[in-house]
Amino acid sequence: MKNILVFTCSLFFLMHIFSNGLNAQNVALVIHGGAGNVTKENIPDSLEIQYRNVMTKALNLGYDILNRGGSSQDAVKAVINIMEDSPLFNAGKGAVFTNAGTNELDAAVMDGATLKAGAVSGVRHIKNPIDAAIAVMSNSQHVLLYGVGAEEFAKSQGITMVDSSYFFTQKRFDQLKKAREKEESDQGFNYTQHPDFKFGTVGAVALDLNGNIFVGTSTGGMTNKRYGRIGDTPIIGAGTYANNNTCGLSATGHGEFFMRAVVTHDISALMEYKGLSIQEAADVVIHEKLVKMGGEGGVVGLDTLGNIMMSFNSAGMFRGYIKKDDQPVVLIFRDK
Ligand code: ASP
Repeated sequence: MKNILVFTCSLFFLMHIFSNGLNAQNVALVIHGGAGNVTKENIPDSLEIQYRNVMTKALNLGYDILNRGGSSQDAVKAVINIMEDSPLFNAGKGAVFTNAGTNELDAAVMDGATLKAGAVSGVRHIKNPIDAAIAVMSNSQHVLLYGVGAEEFAKSQGITMVDSSYFFTQKRFDQLKKAREKEESDQGFNYTQHPDFKFGTVGAVALDLNGNIFVGTSTGGMTNKRYGRIGDTPIIGAGTYANNNTCGLSATGHGEFFMRAVVTHDISALMEYKGLSIQEAADVVIHEKLVKMGGEGGVVGLDTLGNIMMSFNSAGMFRGYIKKDDQPVVLIFRDK
């Protein structure tokens, strides 16, 4: 009898420690669906509702995974898959077209606990490029695979492949036509200043119950990009970065600038070496360094305490977050 009592008491004690240990850590999730010329005037109400619905669904699903003790990697994968499968975003289905009329997709992931990373670029037949990036990280000796080699590797990993026609959407094709026409009629034309222009990349950063940060970013790149062009998304430290000592970050914007400014690693380095908060560090890079260089876009991220940051220097950015026991928040324009 005494033994049973001791056993039961110890069991309750262990359960108490265990549940307190889990509760001590706050889960959090932050996402983006691209930045750019995103203003109320440029987005019809019906389209705005669609964006808000998909982003809310993604946040709720990701949060559910985290809240049940799932890993930040699983949450990021699930969230990005939803946005890749939606034609609204410039990632997976809905990817923009190159100047050659092809869809060439880039994606990357990074694990803040191990600093392991994986990425693919210039892929044309992988339905969910984020899955291929995870496979590169988990099951290869490499960080970044491109083109046909990346696709053969993905196929060998059992990742879903599609015909390139899967990526066709009339909306994106019309954007390409418009961009080409503008380019022909005005040699100095900068499409990124056009009302139609939205970057549209998707990204997610999650913090799980074990305190691990994981990030993923997936994109079709930029409308009318030269075929073969690789942007910042799959470049670790430019468009995608995570480190459990500092934060996790996913960027969206004019990739050439984000690469040259090494945006995500710079933000992490300001936190690590200068002790800045995630918001202070992002503000320095997005609102000072990038602006001086002429780079447009934004970045979302979170730190190990679950503090959320969403900074952008464009007109707007599709963005949202969810924190423990809170409702999802989705914002599109400057302040709502
Ligand atoms: N950063 C992406 C690129 O340059 C574009 C985007 O964010 O939408 O490829």
